[in-house]
Amino acid sequence: MKTVGYAAHSSDAEMVPYHFERRALRANDVAIEILYSGICHSDLHTVNGDWGPQPYPLVPGHEIVGRVLEVGPDVTKYKVGDHVGVGCMVDSCQACDQCDHGEEQYCRHGMTGTYGSPDRISGEITQGGYSKHIVVREEFVLRVPDGLDLSRAAPILCAGITTYSPLRTWNIGKGSRVGVIGLGGLGHMAVKLAVAMGAEVTVLSRSTKKEDEAKAIGAKGILASTDAEAMAKAKASMDLIIDTVPVKHDVTPYAPLLDVDGTLVIVGQVGPMSGFMSVPMIMGRRRVAGSLIGGIKETQEVLDFCAEHNIHPICEIIRPDQVNDAYEVMTKGDIAHRYVMDMSSLSVED
Ligand SMILES: [Zn+2]
Ligand SMILES: [Zn+2]
Repeated sequence: MKTVGYAAHSSDAEMVPYHFERRALRANDVAIEILYSGICHSDLHTVNGDWGPQPYPLVPGHEIVGRVLEVGPDVTKYKVGDHVGVGCMVDSCQACDQCDHGEEQYCRHGMTGTYGSPDRISGEITQGGYSKHIVVREEFVLRVPDGLDLSRAAPILCAGITTYSPLRTWNIGKGSRVGVIGLGGLGHMAVKLAVAMGAEVTVLSRSTKKEDEAKAIGAKGILASTDAEAMAKAKASMDLIIDTVPVKHDVTPYAPLLDVDGTLVIVGQVGPMSGFMSVPMIMGRRRVAGSLIGGIKETQEVLDFCAEHNIHPICEIIRPDQVNDAYEVMTKGDIAHRYVMDMSSLSVED
């Protein structure tokens, strides 16, 4: 299938239109016309080569919402016209213990990323959602429930599941006290989801500048990490802290905010942190953990949860030809929303 997307051809070049082929449908494949494609901070890190060399040309994008165009003969869950989503994975071994219990992101043989990964059968490099079409095996296609606004659903597939999974893993519910570091794409979803689960949520940020935004989505307020007095007063007041900061930083200043047995879970930055102090960990049996997206079953669960609770990411809709400008804004600072591309202006004929 002929398609078109926006591809990076090297780590220092802007993304440009790129014509390429999607594979012919296998028996268990679903072909999707992409309607909306979210822009994740990890797309930017990947195309910039921050996480190692990439197989260019590379079409990023793993927050995909679209419509089913065609299905292979063995597909049973979807039919032409269904609204569907694709997140960060498009395949896994489907046979190991992790895949068996629905945590394909921790597949013993490595999951296949939506872009930049070799396909398990053909070996060709997967290309992501900044494109008009995608072909994905049925098991990795999600259903977008009717209650969700299609134009604002895409970021749930990465920003949503990345924060939902730790909230579930650490049993957040009524009365839980949750801190969220950073109020960007991931952070604002963490706040909305934790609030919907019944938690009391505090945003942790360098300043209280975004206090109104935090309160508008249900947070109790902002605790400024630069305010030593306020930080000392908040000691041992949280059960879980979700750290969404995507750049190198030190988690030590936040650790004392955790109550005994509390956990700080890193979901934003991938790579070396800038320092680590064991004292607050030891003195309160506190933990530092990490978490990677969520399994397919849980991703369907967060889509359904968002529909049920009318939770939508805060999105700014742009055209695909504005992607480089969006990257520039994202590189400069933290924005409290997600860029989502409306793919309707992208045509295979151009
Ligand atoms: Zn992402
Ligand atoms: Zn597996």
